[in-house]
Amino acid sequence: MANAEFGTVFFDEMTFATYDGEKWSETSFVPSDKLPLHPATHVLHYASTCFEGMKAFRAADGKINIFRLDDHVKRMQNSARCLHLPVPDTEQLKAMIVDILAKHRDEVPAFPGSAYIRPTLIGTDQSIGRAAAPTRTAMLYVLISPVGDYFPADAKMRVLLDTEHQRCAPHFGSVKSGGNYASALGLILAAKEKYNTAQVIFAPDGDVQETGAANCLLINDNEVLTKPLSSEFLPGITRDSLLQVAAKLGYKVTERNIQATELIEWIKTGEVALSGTAAVLAPIGEVVYEGETHHVKQGGEPVNAKRLRKYLNDVQQGLEEDSFGWITRV
Ligand SMILES: *Cc1c(COP(=O)(O)O)cnc(C)c1O
Repeated sequence: MANAEFGTVFFDEMTFATYDGEKWSETSFVPSDKLPLHPATHVLHYASTCFEGMKAFRAADGKINIFRLDDHVKRMQNSARCLHLPVPDTEQLKAMIVDILAKHRDEVPAFPGSAYIRPTLIGTDQSIGRAAAPTRTAMLYVLISPVGDYFPADAKMRVLLDTEHQRCAPHFGSVKSGGNYASALGLILAAKEKYNTAQVIFAPDGDVQETGAANCLLINDNEVLTKPLSSEFLPGITRDSLLQVAAKLGYKVTERNIQATELIEWIKTGEVALSGTAAVLAPIGEVVYEGETHHVKQGGEPVNAKRLRKYLNDVQQGLEEDSFGWITRV
């Protein structure tokens, strides 16, 4: 596992349930290496799919801390509604996540590793005629991937600030659904080819939104600044957590729209970082804007991003008190 690519190794079992058009089945444990799907299955043609990404951490007492379980379940239910997929039952989905972790608790790596949890919902009607109709049937499963620390706090990313393109359809940006990543992929690859960037911050018409899979925070010694939630981008639970942590640590927290020109001005002295479950908070070192490279803080250290990240990591591991009620212990 130590050398494996992120998200390529899994517990050999997963929890699994189906929706038959009227009700959810009981949950079962099944092998995690295959799904029985007809080639005409709805999801394979019309992208009736959504997922979640969350983590569980090994605490010092050997218990497993699941981070913000309820919020991830709620967000998945919201994604399912937007896609007109059968909505998973709250208690069943929570139990599907808790039970697979409880059964395989010994396989959850110690910090900085964790268990990355990937609940997935797909439409399974065997019909290629339902392009403009919802699937009636579905499968729900919870894959678990033991992961290491793939995004060290010291790595400083080079990103493109793209004011021309949108990541995905603006009414769909808040849904964690496959098609959105497909829509951003070509743009990310083109930027890598042209500017050698790892990520693209999408800022259509100058409105700074997010990257392909992470939210964007501007940070300095006094303040954390980010765009207010909208349908255009993903309401990150790490984003929300970091804003609450920042307020607790005495930063001013501001949610308002940010122009690309303001971001470029900000990074002369301030920091910019990407937030998401996988990376927590990954500092950016260089921003390419209108063909020129801008060095964040003239190459200075992202001390505030590191401080926020550490606090959140400590809550996740149980080293810092869970004053926000974010941890479910298994
Ligand atoms: C998952 C995701 C995020 C981050 O959300 P978290 O809940 O913090 O993991 C941000 N943007 C996109 C597009 C995402 O898919």
